[in-house]
Amino acid sequence: VTSVPDPTLPDRRGASLGGRKLSPLFYRQPLQVVRAEGPWIHTADGRRYLDAYNNVPVVGHAHPAVVQAISRQAALLNVNSRYLHPNAVELAERLTASMPAGLDTCIFMNSGSEANDLAWRMARIVTGRSGAVVADLAYHGVSEATAAFSTNTYPPSARPAHIAVFEAPRGAADETDATRRVQHAREDLQRAGHDLALVAVDTVFSSAGILTPTDEFMRGLQDQVRAAGGLFLADEVQAGFGRGGRNLWRFLDFGLTPDFVTLGKPMGNGHPIAALITRREIAERFAEVDEFFSTFGGNPVSCAAALTVLDVIEETGLVRRSGEVGALLSDGLRRIVPDVVSVRGQGLMVGVELDAAPELAERLREHGVLVGTTGPGGNVLKVRPPLIWQPSQVEVFLAAFEAALG
Ligand code: PMP
Repeated sequence: VTSVPDPTLPDRRGASLGGRKLSPLFYRQPLQVVRAEGPWIHTADGRRYLDAYNNVPVVGHAHPAVVQAISRQAALLNVNSRYLHPNAVELAERLTASMPAGLDTCIFMNSGSEANDLAWRMARIVTGRSGAVVADLAYHGVSEATAAFSTNTYPPSARPAHIAVFEAPRGAADETDATRRVQHAREDLQRAGHDLALVAVDTVFSSAGILTPTDEFMRGLQDQVRAAGGLFLADEVQAGFGRGGRNLWRFLDFGLTPDFVTLGKPMGNGHPIAALITRREIAERFAEVDEFFSTFGGNPVSCAAALTVLDVIEETGLVRRSGEVGALLSDGLRRIVPDVVSVRGQGLMVGVELDAAPELAERLREHGVLVGTTGPGGNVLKVRPPLIWQPSQVEVFLAAFEAALG
């Protein structure tokens, strides 16, 4: 990769595999990034971009307290998790204390995929069943099991018979819809010789186009899973750590009490760390028949990063701020786009549904703003910035958005 895009070089938009992308990069001319701070990313050609896309640097790029915590702990000790270390204990205690009573057991790993994968292993052992139900256009990870749960990328023709799909709630779906959808999916499983062990839901339905279901729908979903003898997984890998602007965890907004919660992406502000939170009896039942150990999972450096992320979120009131700044963003967008365009989301996770979303993302880049696209065919502009955005960043964003739309 050269430091400045060279038109004489081949197109570098990801390795092509049978016409599909193995590891696609963003943009027709990918960006070469060199450094970042707060909400800003700098590229090799000397430009500065407003980051309206990256949720991983949740407390801002290169946050000094996180950088210091990582480097201090790295200079002191880093080792695998076969030893006791207070960082892992403190982190587990703080995370479980933020969850509903009963979600008292925390297991650390390195990615959201691993956390979902372990939840699936546990669900099968605990229920003695073999079927999973997931939403359409969902994304849950890269392992064999979680890739098959990822209905937005996995080829439907290759979907294993132990997975059934329900339609994600678009529009005013309620408890009755949830009941019907779970029952149909369960019948699909039973026809294939499986019964319901787990229902997994991304609580922001990010890859489905950022959906905002009603509390009734989400609670209905959970009730149905329980009534059917299955376990319920709230995948908070994207939604978690305050993005919704009401609670630290999006599932709390709906009043849910999941059996499994998975955390990842923003957890270490860019340092890889993820977690599965569950009930002790589930973990103990699993441990009677199987074992889980992750070399890097819960290492002292990763835990130091995650502890500092929690500190910054608490000390700076980031959850509330995400709600306030997110409302400014959504209101501003609604003023700019025609009434027929759907602007939706919660807090600093906002989707704008437009056929031209991919082209708009390219144009926004020209206007100095980085966004993403999601939903079927990428028809939803995805605005999901670090939570440290100030109102002034919303103004920069809206001015660029208006110019790009024009
Ligand atoms: N679940 C959701 C909802 C996600 O968005 C992602 C990542 N995009 C994952 C799971 C997988 O996480 P990771 O990439 O850390 O394995």
